[in-house]
Amino acid sequence: MIVAEEKDTLREKLKELFGYTTFRGNQEVVIRNILEGKNTFVIMPTGAGKSLCYQLPAMIKDGLAVVISPLIALMKNQVDQLNAYGINARFLNSTLSKSEITRLKKDCINGDVKLLYVAPESLNKEEYIEFLLKANVSFIAIDEAHCISEWGHDFRPEYRKIKSMIAQLGNMPVIALTATATPKVQIDIQKNLQMEDADIFVSSFNRKNLYYEVRPKKETKKQLIKFLKDNKGKSGIIYCLSRKKVEEIAQLLNVNGFKAVPYHAGLDADVRVKNQDDFLNEEVDIVVATIAFGMGIDKPDVRFVIHYDVPKSLEGYYQETGRAGRDGLEGICLMFYSHNDLSKLEKFNKDKPVQERENARILLQEMEFYAESPICRRKQLLHYFGEEFKVDNCGACDNCVHPREQFDGTEAVKTVLEAVQQTNERFGLSHLVNVIRGIEDEYVKSYNHADLPIYGKGGDEDADFWKSVIRQALIYQYLEKDIDSIGVLKIKDKGRKFLKKPEPIELARDHDFTSEGDEEESAERIPINSKAYDVKLFEMLKSLRKNIAKEKDLPPYVIFQDPSLEEMATTYPTTKEELASVNGVGMGKVQKFGKSFLELIKEYVEENDIETAADIVVKSSVNKSKIKIFIIQQIDRKVDLEEIADSKGITFEDMLTEIENICYSGTKLNLDYYIDEILDESKQEQIFEYFLNSETDSIEEALQDEDMSDFSEEEIRLMRIKFLSEYAN
Ligand code: ADP
Ligand code: MG
Ligand code: ZN
Repeated sequence: MIVAEEKDTLREKLKELFGYTTFRGNQEVVIRNILEGKNTFVIMPTGAGKSLCYQLPAMIKDGLAVVISPLIALMKNQVDQLNAYGINARFLNSTLSKSEITRLKKDCINGDVKLLYVAPESLNKEEYIEFLLKANVSFIAIDEAHCISEWGHDFRPEYRKIKSMIAQLGNMPVIALTATATPKVQIDIQKNLQMEDADIFVSSFNRKNLYYEVRPKKETKKQLIKFLKDNKGKSGIIYCLSRKKVEEIAQLLNVNGFKAVPYHAGLDADVRVKNQDDFLNEEVDIVVATIAFGMGIDKPDVRFVIHYDVPKSLEGYYQETGRAGRDGLEGICLMFYSHNDLSKLEKFNKDKPVQERENARILLQEMEFYAESPICRRKQLLHYFGEEFKVDNCGACDNCVHPREQFDGTEAVKTVLEAVQQTNERFGLSHLVNVIRGIEDEYVKSYNHADLPIYGKGGDEDADFWKSVIRQALIYQYLEKDIDSIGVLKIKDKGRKFLKKPEPIELARDHDFTSEGDEEESAERIPINSKAYDVKLFEMLKSLRKNIAKEKDLPPYVIFQDPSLEEMATTYPTTKEELASVNGVGMGKVQKFGKSFLELIKEYVEENDIETAADIVVKSSVNKSKIKIFIIQQIDRKVDLEEIADSKGITFEDMLTEIENICYSGTKLNLDYYIDEILDESKQEQIFEYFLNSETDSIEEALQDEDMSDFSEEEIRLMRIKFLSEYAN
């Protein structure tokens, strides 16, 4: 099996160079494509792991890979990270002195350097082209490729010249990468780079580990302080709309004993740089910022992103929240919402030209719908980016964790679809609502829509109700937005089927953010994660990491990232080999930084009489305990159970046994995200009830019980794990 063999070599390389055990998402197929020398276009959300897509092939291919990247600050950071892995990466930009450049060129031509980061403006220089022609370039990677498009959010004119430069170098394979995927930008990028032939790899935009919540903007400061107290010591970003607000909140936090700094375009450049560095170096925990902060910050362990004010668009919101939890661990995204904020933003747009104002208004309306909607936040966000999220309960947003009360929406959806149909699928939301409610404004008059059978049929409910029903019909795929004319709604196949033969639909009412003191109790909504690792050791490792980072003048996450520290605080590695097998470590890092970590762990293990992996080897195999840790971590990240079993090459049954063992040894596991998918609430209750009243937790007995005859062994075992986690542990 050649294929399997190849697969293994690539994985071995991944482990050897970067210390990771598995590829994420599309990484592997993308890398193969580049290795085959094909033009490649990668669209992946922020934090998904685009860098690795070109870094690994750069190491495997002969010659020098050139990476074009827009920000000098980002370049240094990436190079630092690669050097920490023992990889010879360098950068070429205006911060280097003449003699540094001469030396760099020599090293590149000698073949010592594997990755060279360059700014697009450098490439326009004749002398650099000459130099690269001598350097045996293997391929060119263009990071943040959306900068090429005027339609993207940070257009850079120098990006336009990249193609002619590549042509001068003799047309080698190109890989373009971006997280912004609107179709317009996508086409623009391909056209400009003349890579219409490229293989395109689009990843899902779903960020599984992010938790989304919207809270009413009431007693906001108090809520904020409470949240930060509960999350003390974690890194986070708080976005505000104005500089003044940024200063005010930063001060409030400092008065309350948090380590926070402000960041906005009004600060002196050196203050800005210092505040940003302090954040990266963990001298402070929190940055309070305007949206000027963020692009190019790829700090992997940002644990929360808070929007103190309502953002201007869902697209911006998604980019900003995307900065949380890049390392795949916890990422809480909290937004404070009020209608008042929206009105303020509308006022800012007052002086803009008509078309621009209208566009801004539509963006704000999307924001309003998002915030007030009872539908899964994740489903809504992905829908906005043209992706259908099929899961009903994501388990990681406020609307899924605390579902709104539902009502039978069959009639309401029917009314909406009939209104769209009778007006010939040519109108937008507001007009449809007027028709349904029987409001005779000038449009209704001019189209004679008061004569339609549907006119006034929904007069009992207010406009907000109907807007909400239409929105839900959109997200549940009964309606769609017309691509050509903004705002116009059309009926989808599912909607047509429904009109012929209506099936019952459950809808929910929107959040009411206006009424005072209603049931929108916001406290304690975020699920508290139980920690599966040794928290004390983790903290010790973290502070050691900080000291070493300081000594070497690097951000701490360059040394080891949080997931690696968590794993160390679970497996207690005491030898170099064990440490190298920790995910994200690898031999390069062991050589560079391993010694003091191993010493710390050894000492800790002795003092606390802990049984380490090395001790366990005698009794069972190390592999086994590694699988356990893997499973715990994957479940923490809400990875599909089948996927977990697959990636470890074990059967579902064997994995259940592992999970049961983990549970019996006292670790709490939250499988709700999976169980909610396969069993509805009443069925879950039925099994739960059984275990509550049963004398034993034996599966054999449960299978023989009459009340359990509807359930499979798998379902019963899963519920028993839930039961044990909630009651026994
Ligand atoms: P992007 O450029 O897509 O926003 P990055 O390339 O900065 O994302 O990667 C985000 C994080 O994911 C980094 O902290 C990186 O170490 C981590 N990462 C990337 N690939 C893997 C992998 N295969 N396994 C584990 N972690 C990974
Ligand atoms: Mg990136
Ligand atoms: Zn959800």
